[in-house]
Amino acid sequence: MDMSAGELVERQKQYFDSGITKDVRFRLDMLQKLRETIRGAEDRIYEALHADLNKPKAESYGTEIGIVLHEIGFALKHANRWAKPKKVKPGFAVGGKSFIMPEPYGTALIISPWNYPVNLTFAPLIAAMAAGNTAVLKPSELTPTVSALIAALVRDNFEPRYIAVVEGGPDVNAELLEQPFDCMFFTGSTHVGQIVAEAAAKKLIPVTLELGGKSPCIVHRDADLKLAARRIVYGKFTNGGQTCVAPDYLLVHRDVKQELLDRMRHEIERFFGKTPVRNPNITKIVNERHFVRLKRYMQEGTIVIGGETDPLLMRIAPTVMENVQPEARVMREEIFGPILPVLEYGDLDEAIRFVLDKPKPLALYLFAEDRTVQQRVLSRVSFGGGCINDTLLHLANPYLPFGGVGDSGTGSYHGEFGFRAFSHYKSVLKQTTAFDIPFRYPTSKIGYRFMRRFMK
Ligand code: NAD
Repeated sequence: MDMSAGELVERQKQYFDSGITKDVRFRLDMLQKLRETIRGAEDRIYEALHADLNKPKAESYGTEIGIVLHEIGFALKHANRWAKPKKVKPGFAVGGKSFIMPEPYGTALIISPWNYPVNLTFAPLIAAMAAGNTAVLKPSELTPTVSALIAALVRDNFEPRYIAVVEGGPDVNAELLEQPFDCMFFTGSTHVGQIVAEAAAKKLIPVTLELGGKSPCIVHRDADLKLAARRIVYGKFTNGGQTCVAPDYLLVHRDVKQELLDRMRHEIERFFGKTPVRNPNITKIVNERHFVRLKRYMQEGTIVIGGETDPLLMRIAPTVMENVQPEARVMREEIFGPILPVLEYGDLDEAIRFVLDKPKPLALYLFAEDRTVQQRVLSRVSFGGGCINDTLLHLANPYLPFGGVGDSGTGSYHGEFGFRAFSHYKSVLKQTTAFDIPFRYPTSKIGYRFMRRFMK
């Protein structure tokens, strides 16, 4: 980009002020164009994801391209309705009309991480476009091939005064965070989320934070262990465990622990083969720093499944560990890799207490058949979102808001929730001039009595 961040934002704000992006027809046309752009670049996207992360094709479609296309289709179908003012009851303004009018914030900053670099850059962009904003995207420097491709696709298909990509790392972000954006949308770590929130607070910019954390997975005694094992292995080891909502650790009822581990070993072998590090279709660890960090975790317990690594190809086999101390680093830090510590419990309250003692997680998964057990966990534990008897799938349902709570984030998106994240809901009361009810005025003799009667 041959423009300073300040100039870019200024130009986008001018473009936004022209009102063009607010026109719903324009929004739909641009979303359609984005859909064609992504469809037309499908092979280049596979190649870029393969170059940066060794992502297999089916996984790249299922977790990146497919999700983005589905999100566009959903927005194309519903944006018209989402954008319409909604009438509400008049309250005290009898005779008048009240309505809520969604309006785009203006110029949005979208910062994304490297783990699902296509999905997590385009999904917020779709929401920003559907809501009628202009947007500056800052994809991750850790997946440079994908970031360069995103920059090229945007440059070749959209005007920079509408959508622009700025490439680079924290220093580039620092400059962007100084700019007077109208809203910010950040996906990444809790630590950087704090930096973004601080920058936003200084200028009172509304901000959505999609952060990480340690998402627990509880397997109760009555769970369907065959399905639990398969779905946990899928949720944990997809993308090499580098998924914000991957089960971070397991809490298993001690009566079923051994059977669950045996079944997981079987599923891991079925999914990834006997020697997963030699499987060409295994997502690699993003860089050496993370590879070293993950290897260190493997020394903090007894490895019962996996444990093999390939430093040249930066691969780590799906690994399950036991005998992990709750105060070990692997149990204090977000793992974000293919390592799964397993802890056991005897009483469900013990497991609940364990989760409650940690920051509120982004996701929680519970495998249990008993409805009272399900209800107990749902009503006692606060978490962003999750599944009962499955993993990950809640994030693929555009009817569900996707986001965290507390340390795992603020706000949510997907479907209409994404539209809301990029919109201000303006309240308008349109009063009648046909008559004037006098009670509120100081001249009214019965106003006080009237107000006391009705305003309580
Ligand atoms: P990260 O926070 O290191 O980086 C995210 C973005 O912030 C990148 O674009 C990066 O360039 C920028 N950045 C990094 N350091 C910065 C700094 N000091 N100042 C300003 N900007 C900075 O996160 P990551 O390693 O790319 O991604 C992994 C994290 O993201 C995990 O914690 C994961 O749970 C979380 N995550 C959350 C979601 C979600 O939807 N909630 C999705 C994916 C990943």
